[in-house]
Amino acid sequence: MPSRRTSFALSVLLAGGVGAAALASPASAAPPGPKTVAEAGLPSGDQHALVRLQLPDQAALDRLVASGADIAARPAVSRSSREGAVLVDVVVTGHELSRLRSQGATVLQVIQKQDDGSRRFADSRKAARQALAKGLTTTTRRSAAGGTAEVSVDTLHFLQAYWWASGGRTFVQAEVATTAVTDPDVEITVAWTTADGQSGTFALRRFEDAGEYQYHVAGPQSVPARPISLTATSSLGGTASKAPQAWPGTSAPPMPAGYQQDFIAAYMTPTDVKARIKRLARQYPDLLDVIDLPHKTQGYRRTATAYLGDPAGAAVVVESRRYGSQRMNGVQVKSRAPAKRKRPLSATYRDRVLTIRLATGPQGEVISTTDQVAAFIGARYPRQFRASVEAGSGGKTMPVAGPTRLDDGLSAAGLSHPWTVQALRIGKHRDGSRPGVLAYSQEHAREWATPLVTMEFAERLLANAATDPGTAELLEDVDVFVLPVTNPDGANYSFNDYNFQRKNLDNFCTGTDRDPINRNRWGVDVNRNYTVGSVFDGYIGGSTDCLSAVAAGTGELSEAESSNVISLAKEHSNIRYAMNVHSYGGYFMWPPGAYAMPGRITLPRPDATEEYAFVQAAKRIVGAISTDRGTMTWPSNTGPVADVLYSAGGNSADQLYYEFGIAAWDFEVGNDLWNPTTNRWAGVGFQPPYEEAHAESQEYATGLVELLRVARDSAAQR
Ligand SMILES: [Zn+2]
Repeated sequence: MPSRRTSFALSVLLAGGVGAAALASPASAAPPGPKTVAEAGLPSGDQHALVRLQLPDQAALDRLVASGADIAARPAVSRSSREGAVLVDVVVTGHELSRLRSQGATVLQVIQKQDDGSRRFADSRKAARQALAKGLTTTTRRSAAGGTAEVSVDTLHFLQAYWWASGGRTFVQAEVATTAVTDPDVEITVAWTTADGQSGTFALRRFEDAGEYQYHVAGPQSVPARPISLTATSSLGGTASKAPQAWPGTSAPPMPAGYQQDFIAAYMTPTDVKARIKRLARQYPDLLDVIDLPHKTQGYRRTATAYLGDPAGAAVVVESRRYGSQRMNGVQVKSRAPAKRKRPLSATYRDRVLTIRLATGPQGEVISTTDQVAAFIGARYPRQFRASVEAGSGGKTMPVAGPTRLDDGLSAAGLSHPWTVQALRIGKHRDGSRPGVLAYSQEHAREWATPLVTMEFAERLLANAATDPGTAELLEDVDVFVLPVTNPDGANYSFNDYNFQRKNLDNFCTGTDRDPINRNRWGVDVNRNYTVGSVFDGYIGGSTDCLSAVAAGTGELSEAESSNVISLAKEHSNIRYAMNVHSYGGYFMWPPGAYAMPGRITLPRPDATEEYAFVQAAKRIVGAISTDRGTMTWPSNTGPVADVLYSAGGNSADQLYYEFGIAAWDFEVGNDLWNPTTNRWAGVGFQPPYEEAHAESQEYATGLVELLRVARDSAAQR
């Protein structure tokens, strides 16, 4: 429905103009920020970047998703109500971006570019060395310091009405549902009033998911003071009013004097995390067990490949069966034309050189085709090589080419071995007698801040156990499991080769999808590989396409990484709570995390009692996170995955919840930051400047400690 969309966007703009004139206020009168990013900042050619795009309509987003694009986040609501249209954060190349822009997409923000990863990693290491040189150690805390709806053509109902203060500013957010669900042109405007009589308005935007109306919503609005009333008005005449409540309306106990924190000094690779775990095990033998999980990963390894020929003309892809690190890197391959007539296709493989002698015809001309050569290599050396025709080279005459060297394309040394994934088990009673709480992170390789969160959390518990009575009490009452690096192979690839790597290193592609040009698109999305509500069960959000950013693998739990998470839950039936730590965007979510189409049929929703428990726990944890630097997870970003983010078919939290009965949450750490200059919320990305990643580790570790208190309190009530 592109045309209806356009008219909707237009009418929102008009309504905004009228509202601003009628009810001028400092907030609504603020000048809009710059609409686009300077051309110079955009990626070019094959360079990748993570960008926030404004798309012309929902159909454009649907097309983007269907194309298998690497969607990083989906800001479901326009961050400034005047923007209208659909926002998406996506990893694209310069070429892809040009195409999207020619189709009407606007770049709102370049969140990070390909080179930013290695630069920020290096910066963080440099900062850590400097801190060390200055003798800086961990931080120790100094002493503590309802609405009624009038029936008209439609009826409005406030789903959410909240305000909060953060960073010296006050924000208000509202979600309103209209009963006129099928009318795409209904506009809803919310007017706010403060105690001292200031007022203003903002427009809500219709939010649809999978073609179904959900509600009207806008991103948090900056207001001059605490609002005391909100009134929503629809273009059909419906109205509703509500006094906004304080969000989240909870407060965590302050950190006691002497509490130790800040154990993170730089970004950490899987190797760094492993070394830290080893040190902690030595340091705290009475409190900590290290669990070697049973499923070793493939390791930072790939087969070695080469194009024999020129992909621009004609080429065959030759690939080793073994990994490149198993003496296949550097093997040479070449094709030669015998100087004799009527020779059959033949080959030799000796001294690490594969030589293909092409078949010749009556005049001595080469008659072998690419297809024949590829089939021949695979049949002649089935244990050493596989070969396929490069995409676009089918049926062409095989060129004389090479020698060229097979290579696995991996740039780091010393990591080419299967990886034992490790979890920490922390507590005074690690015997299953206490309720278990699991925190796990970095299912997605590029989410570098997430292991910092879980490691900081673990280390706070260990370091404070002997000195802080509150921590000692928690470790008496709960059994804590921490899995900091779920996907180490992908993480190694993200740190060393391609910073936007999301998936693991398992390449299950066949045919031309194995062409080395696709090397940054291979892998399985670990968080789509679980057994409940998966793509294999007909749910939305995973893909059977091996190149998709959300490739679900060859079957449920086909991957070591996902199998490890499930084995933890299976082995330790006392685990009652789990937090799956991702980045970025600032979300707090719980099941259901997937729905099936048509009809947008979600996995079963928790019953009212359980939903209430989810919400209450969320408010406590969101409140705890906010005590650190004022970061507020928005009410609109707090709720079931399927409602606030998207359908993530086959994700881990759903299997933990539906199969094991574990209250399973997801964090997306790295909340958008309010930029008062542009009057816009800005995304932080997967690998923010280290200072931001560090801040995320601190505030979300505080949130995880509060999760332990939630677990303890709820166990005590039973
Ligand atoms: Zn993630």
